[in-house]
Amino acid sequence: MSGFPEFDYRNNELFVESVSLKQIAREFGTPCYVYSRAALTKAYQAFDAAFANREHLICYAVKANSNIAILNLFARLGSGFDIVSGGELQRVIKAGGDPGKTVFSGVGKHVDEMRMALNANILCFNVESEAELIVLNQIAKDMGKIAPVSLRVNPDVDAKTHPYISTGLKENKFGVPASVAERIYQSTQQYPHIRFTGLDCHIGSQLTELEPFLQASHKMLNLLETLQSQGLSIEHLDLGGGLGIRYTDETPPSIKDYVSALCAGTRTVKQRLLIEPGRSLVGNSGILLTRVEYLKHTSARDFAIVDAAMNDLMRPALYDAYHAILPVQQNASEARNYQVVGPVCETGDFLGHDRKLSLNDGDFLAVMSAGAYGMSMSSNYNTRPRAAEIMVDHDQIHIIRQRETIDQLMADERVLPQ
Ligand SMILES: *Cc1c(COP(=O)(O)O)cnc(C)c1O
Repeated sequence: MSGFPEFDYRNNELFVESVSLKQIAREFGTPCYVYSRAALTKAYQAFDAAFANREHLICYAVKANSNIAILNLFARLGSGFDIVSGGELQRVIKAGGDPGKTVFSGVGKHVDEMRMALNANILCFNVESEAELIVLNQIAKDMGKIAPVSLRVNPDVDAKTHPYISTGLKENKFGVPASVAERIYQSTQQYPHIRFTGLDCHIGSQLTELEPFLQASHKMLNLLETLQSQGLSIEHLDLGGGLGIRYTDETPPSIKDYVSALCAGTRTVKQRLLIEPGRSLVGNSGILLTRVEYLKHTSARDFAIVDAAMNDLMRPALYDAYHAILPVQQNASEARNYQVVGPVCETGDFLGHDRKLSLNDGDFLAVMSAGAYGMSMSSNYNTRPRAAEIMVDHDQIHIIRQRETIDQLMADERVLPQ
Protein backbone atom coordinates (compact mmCIF):
# COMPACT_ATOMS: atom_id res chain seq x y z
CA MET A 1 0.00 0.00 0.00
CA SER A 2 1.33 3.43 -0.94
CA GLY A 3 -1.20 5.18 1.32
CA PHE A 4 -2.22 7.42 -1.60
CA PRO A 5 -5.55 6.54 -3.23
CA GLU A 6 -5.36 5.82 -6.99
CA PHE A 7 -1.54 5.54 -6.74
CA ASP A 8 -0.77 2.02 -5.63
CA TYR A 9 1.59 -0.92 -6.06
CA ARG A 10 0.80 -3.91 -8.23
CA ASN A 11 3.46 -6.62 -7.96
CA ASN A 12 5.90 -4.11 -6.43
CA GLU A 13 5.38 -1.62 -9.25
CA LEU A 14 3.67 1.71 -8.70
CA PHE A 15 0.56 2.35 -10.81
CA VAL A 16 -1.75 5.29 -11.25
CA GLU A 17 -5.23 3.86 -11.68
CA SER A 18 -4.59 1.06 -14.22
CA VAL A 19 -1.45 2.52 -15.77
CA SER A 20 2.15 1.74 -14.93
CA LEU A 21 4.16 4.85 -14.04
CA LYS A 22 7.19 3.20 -15.65
CA GLN A 23 5.29 3.11 -18.93
CA ILE A 24 4.42 6.82 -18.62
CA ALA A 25 8.04 7.69 -17.84
CA ARG A 26 9.29 5.75 -20.86
CA GLU A 27 6.67 7.12 -23.26
CA PHE A 28 6.59 10.75 -22.20
CA GLY A 29 9.91 11.28 -20.49
CA THR A 30 10.68 12.76 -17.10
CA PRO A 31 10.20 14.91 -15.15
CA CYS A 32 6.45 14.94 -15.62
CA TYR A 33 3.40 15.52 -13.49
CA VAL A 34 0.84 12.71 -13.49
CA TYR A 35 -2.73 13.20 -12.28
CA SER A 36 -5.54 10.76 -11.65
CA ARG A 37 -8.94 11.71 -13.01
CA ALA A 38 -10.62 9.37 -10.50
CA ALA A 39 -8.84 10.99 -7.54
CA LEU A 40 -9.80 14.50 -8.71
CA THR A 41 -13.41 13.46 -9.26
CA LYS A 42 -13.68 11.69 -5.91
CA ALA A 43 -12.31 14.70 -4.03
CA TYR A 44 -14.79 17.04 -5.70
CA GLN A 45 -17.67 14.68 -5.08
CA ALA A 46 -16.69 14.30 -1.41
CA PHE A 47 -17.06 18.07 -0.97
CA ASP A 48 -20.28 18.21 -2.91
CA ALA A 49 -21.91 15.28 -1.11
CA ALA A 50 -20.96 16.59 2.35
CA PHE A 51 -23.07 19.72 1.83
CA ALA A 52 -26.10 17.42 1.62
CA ASN A 53 -29.15 19.67 1.13
CA ARG A 54 -27.42 22.92 1.99
CA GLU A 55 -27.40 25.49 -0.82
CA HIS A 56 -23.72 25.80 -1.75
CA LEU A 57 -21.09 26.55 -4.36
CA ILE A 58 -17.62 24.99 -4.40
CA CYS A 59 -15.20 27.51 -5.93
CA TYR A 60 -12.02 25.61 -6.80
CA ALA A 61 -8.98 27.81 -6.06
CA VAL A 62 -7.37 27.88 -9.50
CA LYS A 63 -3.90 28.81 -8.26
CA ALA A 64 -3.43 25.35 -6.72
CA ASN A 65 -3.31 23.84 -10.22
CA SER A 66 -4.46 25.83 -13.21
CA ASN A 67 -4.13 23.33 -16.07
CA ILE A 68 -7.21 23.79 -18.25
CA ALA A 69 -7.91 20.04 -18.31
CA ILE A 70 -8.26 20.11 -14.53
CA LEU A 71 -10.41 23.27 -14.62
CA ASN A 72 -12.56 21.67 -17.32
CA LEU A 73 -12.98 18.50 -15.27
CA PHE A 74 -14.19 20.49 -12.24
CA ALA A 75 -16.42 22.72 -14.42
CA ARG A 76 -18.11 19.59 -15.79
CA LEU A 77 -18.72 18.42 -12.21
CA GLY A 78 -20.49 21.73 -11.51
CA SER A 79 -17.66 23.57 -9.78
CA GLY A 80 -17.22 27.31 -9.56
CA PHE A 81 -13.81 28.94 -9.30
CA ASP A 82 -11.79 31.23 -7.05
CA ILE A 83 -9.34 33.27 -9.13
CA VAL A 84 -6.57 35.67 -8.14
CA SER A 85 -5.70 37.22 -11.52
CA GLY A 86 -7.06 38.11 -14.93
CA GLY A 87 -4.94 35.33 -16.35
CA GLU A 88 -6.73 32.79 -14.17
CA LEU A 89 -10.07 34.21 -15.36
CA GLN A 90 -9.02 33.63 -18.96
CA ARG A 91 -8.07 30.06 -18.08
CA VAL A 92 -11.47 29.47 -16.46
CA ILE A 93 -13.24 30.79 -19.56
CA LYS A 94 -11.01 28.79 -21.92
CA ALA A 95 -11.68 25.65 -19.88
CA GLY A 96 -15.45 26.12 -20.19
CA GLY A 97 -15.90 27.31 -16.60
CA ASP A 98 -18.77 29.64 -15.73
CA PRO A 99 -17.72 33.22 -14.85
CA GLY A 100 -21.10 33.48 -13.11
CA LYS A 101 -19.76 30.92 -10.61
CA THR A 102 -16.38 32.66 -10.25
CA VAL A 103 -15.16 34.79 -7.35
CA PHE A 104 -12.11 37.04 -7.68
CA SER A 105 -9.80 37.27 -4.63
CA GLY A 106 -6.47 39.04 -4.11
CA VAL A 107 -5.11 42.19 -2.49
CA GLY A 108 -3.75 43.84 -5.63
CA LYS A 109 -6.28 43.59 -8.45
CA HIS A 110 -5.17 45.68 -11.43
CA VAL A 111 -7.74 47.95 -13.11
CA ASP A 112 -7.42 45.93 -16.34
CA GLU A 113 -8.24 42.78 -14.38
CA MET A 114 -11.25 44.50 -12.81
CA ARG A 115 -12.51 45.50 -16.28
CA MET A 116 -12.01 41.99 -17.63
CA ALA A 117 -13.93 40.50 -14.69
CA LEU A 118 -16.76 43.05 -14.97
CA ASN A 119 -17.04 42.29 -18.69
CA ALA A 120 -17.20 38.57 -17.95
CA ASN A 121 -19.95 39.14 -15.33
CA ILE A 122 -18.26 37.19 -12.55
CA LEU A 123 -20.22 36.20 -9.46
CA CYS A 124 -18.33 38.41 -7.05
CA PHE A 125 -15.21 40.43 -6.28
CA ASN A 126 -13.71 39.53 -2.91
CA VAL A 127 -12.49 43.03 -2.06
CA GLU A 128 -9.59 43.30 0.36
CA SER A 129 -9.31 47.05 1.12
CA GLU A 130 -11.21 50.35 1.02
CA ALA A 131 -8.74 51.66 -1.55
CA GLU A 132 -9.63 48.75 -3.85
CA LEU A 133 -13.34 49.36 -3.30
CA ILE A 134 -13.03 53.00 -4.35
CA VAL A 135 -11.20 52.02 -7.56
CA LEU A 136 -13.67 49.23 -8.36
CA ASN A 137 -16.61 51.60 -7.85
CA GLN A 138 -15.04 54.06 -10.30
CA ILE A 139 -14.26 51.41 -12.93
CA ALA A 140 -17.81 50.02 -12.70
CA LYS A 141 -19.17 53.56 -13.07
CA ASP A 142 -17.06 54.17 -16.19
CA MET A 143 -18.33 50.91 -17.68
CA GLY A 144 -21.96 51.55 -16.75
CA LYS A 145 -21.95 48.44 -14.56
CA ILE A 146 -22.67 47.46 -10.99
CA ALA A 147 -19.89 45.39 -9.39
CA PRO A 148 -20.97 42.58 -7.05
CA VAL A 149 -18.76 42.60 -3.94
CA SER A 150 -17.98 40.56 -0.85
CA LEU A 151 -15.64 42.20 1.59
CA ARG A 152 -12.87 39.84 2.63
CA VAL A 153 -12.83 40.00 6.38
CA ASN A 154 -9.66 39.22 8.27
CA PRO A 155 -11.05 37.39 11.31
CA ASP A 156 -7.76 37.53 13.24
CA VAL A 157 -7.50 33.83 14.05
CA ASP A 158 -4.33 31.77 14.16
CA ALA A 159 -4.48 29.11 11.45
CA LYS A 160 -1.52 27.30 13.06
CA THR A 161 0.12 26.65 9.73
CA HIS A 162 3.35 27.74 8.01
CA PRO A 163 3.73 31.54 8.42
CA TYR A 164 4.05 32.05 4.63
CA ILE A 165 0.58 30.54 4.07
CA SER A 166 -1.16 31.93 7.14
CA THR A 167 -3.47 34.75 6.02
CA GLY A 168 -6.05 35.40 8.73
CA LEU A 169 -4.03 37.22 11.38
CA LYS A 170 -4.43 40.97 11.78
CA GLU A 171 -0.77 41.52 10.87
CA ASN A 172 -1.25 39.77 7.47
CA LYS A 173 -1.83 41.81 4.30
CA PHE A 174 -5.18 40.16 3.59
CA GLY A 175 -8.73 41.45 4.08
CA VAL A 176 -10.12 44.14 6.37
CA PRO A 177 -10.91 43.88 10.10
CA ALA A 178 -14.52 43.11 10.99
CA SER A 179 -14.94 46.63 12.43
CA VAL A 180 -13.88 48.20 9.12
CA ALA A 181 -16.14 45.83 7.17
CA GLU A 182 -19.05 46.86 9.37
CA ARG A 183 -18.36 50.56 8.76
CA ILE A 184 -18.12 50.02 4.97
CA TYR A 185 -21.33 48.00 4.84
CA GLN A 186 -23.01 50.87 6.75
CA SER A 187 -21.92 53.38 4.13
CA THR A 188 -22.95 51.56 0.96
CA GLN A 189 -24.43 54.80 -0.43
CA GLN A 190 -20.84 55.98 -0.94
CA TYR A 191 -20.44 53.25 -3.51
CA PRO A 192 -23.36 53.57 -5.95
CA HIS A 193 -21.75 51.22 -8.48
CA ILE A 194 -21.16 48.43 -5.99
CA ARG A 195 -23.73 45.87 -4.92
CA PHE A 196 -22.68 44.27 -1.63
CA THR A 197 -23.71 40.65 -2.08
CA GLY A 198 -21.58 38.62 0.29
CA LEU A 199 -19.17 38.21 3.12
CA ASP A 200 -15.87 36.39 2.71
CA CYS A 201 -12.85 35.12 4.64
CA HIS A 202 -9.87 32.84 4.03
CA ILE A 203 -7.52 32.25 6.93
CA GLY A 204 -4.69 30.23 5.39
CA SER A 205 -3.62 27.01 3.75
CA GLN A 206 -2.75 23.46 4.84
CA LEU A 207 -4.78 23.70 8.07
CA THR A 208 -4.85 20.38 9.86
CA GLU A 209 -7.29 21.26 12.64
CA LEU A 210 -10.96 22.24 12.56
CA GLU A 211 -10.75 24.72 15.41
CA PRO A 212 -9.41 27.77 13.48
CA PHE A 213 -12.05 27.26 10.77
CA LEU A 214 -14.76 27.18 13.42
CA GLN A 215 -13.41 30.28 15.16
CA ALA A 216 -13.38 32.13 11.85
CA SER A 217 -16.86 31.02 10.82
CA HIS A 218 -18.17 32.00 14.25
CA LYS A 219 -16.78 35.51 13.82
CA MET A 220 -18.24 35.71 10.32
CA LEU A 221 -21.61 34.58 11.63
CA ASN A 222 -21.59 37.33 14.26
CA LEU A 223 -20.76 39.94 11.64
CA LEU A 224 -23.43 38.59 9.31
CA GLU A 225 -26.05 38.85 12.06
CA THR A 226 -25.00 42.40 12.88
CA LEU A 227 -25.23 43.44 9.24
CA GLN A 228 -28.62 41.80 8.82
CA SER A 229 -29.95 43.51 11.93
CA GLN A 230 -28.93 46.78 10.25
CA GLY A 231 -31.06 45.88 7.25
CA LEU A 232 -28.31 44.82 4.85
CA SER A 233 -29.22 41.94 2.55
CA ILE A 234 -26.38 39.47 2.04
CA GLU A 235 -26.71 36.65 -0.50
CA HIS A 236 -23.79 34.40 0.34
CA LEU A 237 -21.25 33.58 3.02
CA ASP A 238 -17.84 32.51 1.67
CA LEU A 239 -15.67 30.64 4.17
CA GLY A 240 -12.58 30.36 1.96
CA GLY A 241 -10.32 27.37 1.44
CA GLY A 242 -7.39 26.02 3.40
CA LEU A 243 -8.22 22.42 4.31
CA GLY A 244 -4.93 20.55 4.67
CA ILE A 245 -3.93 17.20 3.18
CA ARG A 246 -1.77 14.37 4.41
CA TYR A 247 1.79 14.69 3.07
CA THR A 248 3.31 12.36 5.67
CA ASP A 249 1.84 11.93 9.14
CA GLU A 250 -0.52 14.91 9.29
CA THR A 251 -4.04 14.04 10.32
CA PRO A 252 -6.25 16.72 8.75
CA PRO A 253 -10.01 16.39 9.14
CA SER A 254 -11.68 14.51 6.29
CA ILE A 255 -13.44 16.54 3.62
CA LYS A 256 -16.74 15.25 4.98
CA ASP A 257 -15.99 16.20 8.59
CA TYR A 258 -14.70 19.62 7.54
CA VAL A 259 -17.77 20.48 5.46
CA SER A 260 -20.13 19.05 8.07
CA ALA A 261 -18.49 21.19 10.75
CA LEU A 262 -18.78 24.32 8.61
CA CYS A 263 -22.43 23.55 7.91
CA ALA A 264 -23.16 22.87 11.58
CA GLY A 265 -21.37 26.04 12.66
CA THR A 266 -23.51 28.10 10.28
CA ARG A 267 -26.83 26.31 10.84
CA THR A 268 -28.69 29.58 11.36
CA VAL A 269 -27.43 31.05 8.06
CA LYS A 270 -30.07 31.05 5.32
CA GLN A 271 -27.68 32.28 2.65
CA ARG A 272 -25.81 30.15 0.15
CA LEU A 273 -22.47 28.88 1.49
CA LEU A 274 -19.35 29.21 -0.65
CA ILE A 275 -16.00 27.56 -0.06
CA GLU A 276 -12.74 27.93 -1.98
CA PRO A 277 -10.79 24.67 -1.64
CA GLY A 278 -7.59 24.30 -3.66
CA ARG A 279 -5.04 21.92 -2.16
CA SER A 280 -7.61 19.46 -0.77
CA LEU A 281 -9.14 18.99 -4.26
CA VAL A 282 -5.93 18.39 -6.19
CA GLY A 283 -2.98 17.82 -3.81
CA ASN A 284 -3.15 14.07 -3.44
CA SER A 285 -4.46 13.58 -7.00
CA GLY A 286 -1.07 14.19 -8.58
CA ILE A 287 2.57 13.17 -8.41
CA LEU A 288 5.83 14.35 -9.89
CA LEU A 289 7.55 11.53 -11.74
CA THR A 290 11.34 11.75 -11.92
CA ARG A 291 14.34 9.65 -12.91
CA VAL A 292 17.51 9.03 -10.95
CA GLU A 293 20.33 10.49 -13.04
CA TYR A 294 23.28 9.74 -10.78
CA LEU A 295 23.98 8.25 -7.40
CA LYS A 296 26.78 10.09 -5.68
CA HIS A 297 28.29 8.71 -2.51
CA THR A 298 30.51 11.08 -0.55
CA SER A 299 32.15 10.57 2.83
CA ALA A 300 29.39 12.71 4.39
CA ARG A 301 26.28 11.87 2.42
CA ASP A 302 24.56 9.68 -0.17
CA PHE A 303 22.96 11.77 -2.89
CA ALA A 304 20.36 10.68 -5.41
CA ILE A 305 20.53 13.29 -8.15
CA VAL A 306 17.25 13.26 -10.03
CA ASP A 307 16.01 15.05 -13.15
CA ALA A 308 13.31 17.06 -11.32
CA ALA A 309 14.33 20.18 -9.44
CA MET A 310 13.17 23.13 -7.39
CA ASN A 311 11.96 24.83 -10.57
CA ASP A 312 9.54 21.92 -11.09
CA LEU A 313 8.44 21.59 -7.45
CA MET A 314 9.25 24.61 -5.33
CA ARG A 315 7.55 23.62 -2.07
CA PRO A 316 10.54 21.89 -0.41
CA ALA A 317 12.85 24.85 -1.15
CA LEU A 318 10.23 27.48 -0.32
CA TYR A 319 8.54 26.08 2.78
CA ASP A 320 10.87 23.23 3.71
CA ALA A 321 7.81 21.14 2.81
CA TYR A 322 7.84 17.36 3.06
CA HIS A 323 6.76 15.20 0.12
CA ALA A 324 6.85 11.42 0.35
CA ILE A 325 9.16 9.93 -2.29
CA LEU A 326 8.31 6.42 -3.43
CA PRO A 327 10.23 4.08 -5.73
CA VAL A 328 8.29 3.22 -8.88
CA GLN A 329 9.83 -0.26 -8.72
CA GLN A 330 10.19 -1.63 -5.22
CA ASN A 331 13.24 -3.82 -4.67
CA ALA A 332 14.51 -5.76 -1.74
CA SER A 333 18.18 -4.77 -1.78
CA GLU A 334 19.73 -2.73 0.98
CA ALA A 335 18.39 0.78 1.48
CA ARG A 336 20.54 3.83 2.07
CA ASN A 337 19.75 7.17 3.58
CA TYR A 338 19.51 9.43 0.50
CA GLN A 339 19.44 13.15 -0.04
CA VAL A 340 17.18 13.44 -3.07
CA VAL A 341 18.35 16.52 -4.96
CA GLY A 342 17.91 18.15 -8.37
CA PRO A 343 20.39 19.52 -10.92
CA VAL A 344 19.81 23.22 -10.09
CA CYS A 345 22.80 25.16 -8.78
CA GLU A 346 21.48 25.87 -5.28
CA THR A 347 21.88 23.89 -2.08
CA GLY A 348 18.18 24.67 -1.53
CA ASP A 349 17.43 22.49 -4.56
CA PHE A 350 16.23 19.34 -2.87
CA LEU A 351 13.08 17.24 -3.03
CA GLY A 352 13.69 15.29 0.16
CA HIS A 353 16.26 14.81 2.87
CA ASP A 354 17.24 11.53 4.56
CA ARG A 355 15.00 9.17 2.61
CA LYS A 356 15.49 5.44 3.08
CA LEU A 357 15.61 4.13 -0.49
CA SER A 358 17.20 1.31 -2.40
CA LEU A 359 18.24 2.83 -5.72
CA ASN A 360 20.05 2.23 -8.98
CA ASP A 361 20.90 4.73 -11.73
CA GLY A 362 17.94 5.11 -14.06
CA ASP A 363 15.30 4.19 -11.47
CA PHE A 364 12.11 6.20 -11.43
CA LEU A 365 10.78 7.91 -8.31
CA ALA A 366 7.34 9.31 -7.55
CA VAL A 367 7.24 12.52 -5.52
CA MET A 368 3.83 12.20 -3.92
CA SER A 369 1.16 14.80 -3.09
CA ALA A 370 2.40 17.08 -5.86
CA GLY A 371 -0.96 17.93 -7.45
CA ALA A 372 -1.31 21.25 -5.62
CA TYR A 373 1.17 24.15 -5.82
CA GLY A 374 3.47 21.96 -7.92
CA MET A 375 3.18 22.77 -11.61
CA SER A 376 1.41 26.05 -10.86
CA MET A 377 4.45 27.36 -8.95
CA SER A 378 7.02 26.00 -11.39
CA SER A 379 9.51 28.24 -13.18
CA ASN A 380 12.18 28.14 -15.84
CA TYR A 381 15.08 28.75 -13.47
CA ASN A 382 18.34 27.44 -14.93
CA THR A 383 16.60 27.58 -18.36
CA ARG A 384 14.85 24.34 -17.60
CA PRO A 385 11.76 23.74 -19.74
CA ARG A 386 8.72 23.09 -17.63
CA ALA A 387 7.60 19.50 -17.22
CA ALA A 388 4.91 17.73 -19.22
CA GLU A 389 1.56 17.02 -17.54
CA ILE A 390 -0.32 13.77 -17.96
CA MET A 391 -3.83 12.81 -16.86
CA VAL A 392 -4.69 9.16 -16.42
CA ASP A 393 -8.28 8.00 -16.73
CA HIS A 394 -8.61 4.26 -15.95
CA ASP A 395 -6.27 2.74 -18.57
CA GLN A 396 -6.14 5.84 -20.77
CA ILE A 397 -3.20 8.24 -20.80
CA HIS A 398 -3.85 11.84 -21.90
CA ILE A 399 -1.16 14.45 -22.30
CA ILE A 400 -2.67 17.67 -20.92
CA ARG A 401 0.42 19.83 -21.34
CA GLN A 402 3.36 19.18 -23.63
CA ARG A 403 6.84 19.52 -22.23
CA GLU A 404 8.17 23.00 -23.00
CA THR A 405 10.97 23.39 -25.53
CA ILE A 406 14.12 25.49 -25.15
CA ASP A 407 13.06 27.43 -28.26
CA GLN A 408 9.81 28.40 -26.54
CA LEU A 409 11.78 29.68 -23.58
CA MET A 410 13.88 32.05 -25.70
CA ALA A 411 11.24 32.98 -28.29
CA ASP A 412 10.45 36.42 -26.86
CA GLU A 413 14.01 37.50 -26.13
CA ARG A 414 16.00 39.88 -28.35
CA VAL A 415 19.63 40.94 -28.56
CA LEU A 416 20.53 44.61 -28.96
CA PRO A 417 20.84 45.81 -32.59
CA GLN A 418 24.46 46.94 -32.11
C1 LIG B 1 -5.01 30.11 -2.01
C2 LIG B 1 -6.41 30.49 -1.68
C3 LIG B 1 -7.39 29.51 -1.51
C4 LIG B 1 -7.10 28.03 -1.57
O1 LIG B 1 -6.35 27.61 -0.49
P1 LIG B 1 -6.06 26.03 -0.28
O2 LIG B 1 -5.24 26.00 0.93
O3 LIG B 1 -5.34 25.57 -1.49
O4 LIG B 1 -7.38 25.37 -0.12
C5 LIG B 1 -8.68 29.92 -1.27
N1 LIG B 1 -9.01 31.24 -1.20
C6 LIG B 1 -8.09 32.21 -1.35
C7 LIG B 1 -8.49 33.62 -1.27
C8 LIG B 1 -6.76 31.87 -1.59
O5 LIG B 1 -5.85 32.84 -1.73
